[in-house]
Amino acid sequence: MWKNYVYRCSECGKEYNTSGPWEFYRNRKGERIPYGHPGPLTEEARLSGIHGFFANMLCLDCGREVDVILEDFYKQPTGFIESLKRLWKKDDENEIRCPHCKSTDLLLDKEEGHGIICPGCRQGKLELIDYWES
Ligand SMILES: [Zn+2]
Ligand SMILES: [Zn+2]
Repeated sequence: MWKNYVYRCSECGKEYNTSGPWEFYRNRKGERIPYGHPGPLTEEARLSGIHGFFANMLCLDCGREVDVILEDFYKQPTGFIESLKRLWKKDDENEIRCPHCKSTDLLLDKEEGHGIICPGCRQGKLELIDYWES
């Protein structure tokens, strides 16, 4: 059910990939690690369970493909998790914003694809050229 998109600009031909949402988990240091899809990639992932979702999105302001947290289930952590919270505060602040330019104008899944101005050349429009579910 998780979706992958490839867009191409009608003018400059630049291609952009977006995909997600993907599962992640936090290890004991509070680092965000891909969980794997459809099943856990590692034994550590399996034991820790899914802690949230991220997506690879296209920032329509700066034109970068960015990795952004969509949901973090540990926003109100307790106990052991509380002690780790400060370690990932940085990620919380970046939530659903481009980590480079702070824009909230992020593209994941506008399936029509048409009419979106290419953030690279600002001339052409993006077309959805490939799509699959994984
Ligand atoms: Zn372009
Ligand atoms: Zn940006």
